[in-house]
Amino acid sequence: MSSPVWHPFTQHGLNEPVPLVSRAERAGLFTADGRRVIDAISSWWVTTHGHCHPRVMAAIRAQSEKLDQLIFAGWTHEPAETLARQLVGMMPRPLEHVFFSDSGSTSVEVALKMALGHFANRGEDRHRIVVMAGSYHGDTVGGMSVGARSVFNRSYAPLMFDVDVIPFPEAGHEQATIDAFEQLCGQRPAALIVEPLVLGAGGMKMYPAGVLKALRELCAAHGVLFIADEVMTAWGRTGTLLACEQAGVVPDLLCLSKGLTGGSLPLAVTMARGEIFESHRSQDRAKMFFHSSSYTANPIACAAAVANLEIWSEEPVLERVADLARRQVGHVRRLEGKVSNLRQLGTIVAMEFEESEGAYLSALGPKLMAFFRERDVLLRPLGNTVYVMPPYCISDDDLGRIYTVIGEAIEAFAG
Ligand code: PMP
Repeated sequence: MSSPVWHPFTQHGLNEPVPLVSRAERAGLFTADGRRVIDAISSWWVTTHGHCHPRVMAAIRAQSEKLDQLIFAGWTHEPAETLARQLVGMMPRPLEHVFFSDSGSTSVEVALKMALGHFANRGEDRHRIVVMAGSYHGDTVGGMSVGARSVFNRSYAPLMFDVDVIPFPEAGHEQATIDAFEQLCGQRPAALIVEPLVLGAGGMKMYPAGVLKALRELCAAHGVLFIADEVMTAWGRTGTLLACEQAGVVPDLLCLSKGLTGGSLPLAVTMARGEIFESHRSQDRAKMFFHSSSYTANPIACAAAVANLEIWSEEPVLERVADLARRQVGHVRRLEGKVSNLRQLGTIVAMEFEESEGAYLSALGPKLMAFFRERDVLLRPLGNTVYVMPPYCISDDDLGRIYTVIGEAIEAFAG
């Protein structure tokens, strides 16, 4: 019998198999038909420590016995309070305020609304948003608007608002990005939103920390709010807790999700500097921050996130990250010359399978995906860009198997 489920980013007309997964542990997914599949992309980049981490699972079980859900407007609960306090302690100063939402996309929507609310409440006419070409910030309408216009969202263009775009800092042309932003600063935009160091869904494109630093400095000089969308890059993915650290910068607004709960439950936060909170704090009710959703700060998700933060504070997570980065270097070296644009940042490795510029609908993508699936490795190429982003606990055997299968795919398809 066919399933009534309508899957995301899936062309049901192509009748590709959709494996049924019934259990997961560490880097392994166990299918209903008895296979063990290696999760080489951390289930869309969320699973940091590994699937079903015992500490996170225990926290979820314990919280589910106490408080399942609570309206978060005008009421609060211990897991949210603890999590917010710990996040403020863990993330760089002065990100002092924590606003909860449910996904990476909503954390971005919240950041954009906070930026505009900040200037509106101060009576300043600043509302333009500057974005980097090729970015991805989510699939809600605001997220799409500040992301790259592409086949992802072409049909929905009439829904989207206009933004100013600076070029991606291609190698050797970094200054062009910085110059373009400096020019736009003259028009007094409200905010710049960027994915620090790596453009994820845009094809795992990497750029140097110096560009991020220069953009941040321009923001500070021109009163433009700097929004760091670290939905993908945070929680150690790029080698440091935040990618921004590598540029020595602190954003005005920081978007976090995915690894916030260790990848176990949906939750997001937008962290803000005091100034942005203060511009909304007033005796005037019309100046409050008008955003909510039913499940804002769900207690069980918050408890999972508190457990994640405990893992970060009590276990050597950054050492595991460094170890995973190091363990991939040898594998990467063996691929040199066989693929183009081979690159690595922290735990992320990416490459292109053809010389031609990758496009999401490249015919190669689905063929590669099927090739990997048939070999029990979950890899989901972005067009002809193949990338590896495993959970930090992955074994040497599983990691080796991922690169063996990539090697086989190169033999079969590349060139
Ligand atoms: N921003 C970035 C940088 C992302 O990578 C993603 C998701 N891949 C999002 C936002 C959207 O997050 P979500 O899918 O949780 O809405």
